[in-house]
Amino acid sequence: PIAYVNGSFVPLSDAKISVLDRGFLFADGIYEVSAVLDGKLVDNASHLARLERSVGEIKLRLPETVERITEIQQELIARNKVENGLVYLQVTRGADKGRDFAFPKGDVKSSLVMFTSEKDIINAASAKTGINVITVPDIRWERRDIKSVALLAQVLAKQAAAEAGAGEAWMLEDGYVTEGGSSSAFILTQDDVIVTRKNSNAILPGCTRKAVVALAEERQLRVEERSFTVAEALAAKEAFATSASLFVQPVVAIDGKKVGDGKPGPMAMRLREIYVEFAKATAV
Ligand code: PLP
Repeated sequence: PIAYVNGSFVPLSDAKISVLDRGFLFADGIYEVSAVLDGKLVDNASHLARLERSVGEIKLRLPETVERITEIQQELIARNKVENGLVYLQVTRGADKGRDFAFPKGDVKSSLVMFTSEKDIINAASAKTGINVITVPDIRWERRDIKSVALLAQVLAKQAAAEAGAGEAWMLEDGYVTEGGSSSAFILTQDDVIVTRKNSNAILPGCTRKAVVALAEERQLRVEERSFTVAEALAAKEAFATSASLFVQPVVAIDGKKVGDGKPGPMAMRLREIYVEFAKATAV
């Protein structure tokens, strides 16, 4: 596979970045993950809009325009012949002469790195079986709306999930679910209201979440953006998660207790189909 590093396309195994890169030293960087379907980028404008917002919030400048970044993503997909998979993109505040917390003085260029991976998102087995989630305390910082590469809390949460044989960790704060380690959390109440937490600094504004909410509302489905507890999720008809790498993923158990009948719910499966249709129709 080929990676992109600061203006060059190089074999992934030769792709290198300085040990002084601030992404490596301080997690001083932002990332994005876009899905690829049939060789095209899914909902990518939404991901790049979030990228622009995230970099702005940490006073980091993109080394390329969003238009150029899109071209690089597409060239990388073509070079790697990715039919179905993901494009990972990371921008960091570059490498200075040493390790200084304050921003580099003068003209240190930010680093831009991309690589791809193969993943058959549409036919993923877990979409048919659903996933179990565990709950963990949300120990992250207070600016979770920024898609920062500082992911240690999520690494630990998702490792705990993996060790418990679960597919995701739902993080809890003040008794409410914030979101999954790398996905947005949803439930469907007994009276058929789709509930997901309101965007704020407490969660990442998921691109898939945004599209699913809009697609549901267009179909006159009832959506409420508000917080919910684990008890409410366990009493719900259905639960599901959304992300660029999963689309819509049914959640069938939380901490070993069944949600609904313990099988993927019809609303989650319907929203998944609707999302796939949208993704295919709008991919570039
Ligand atoms: N929440 C968190 C913490 C994430 O890391 C992610 C994706 O990685 C999401 C939600 C889902 O966001 P998106 O739908 O934009 O992939």
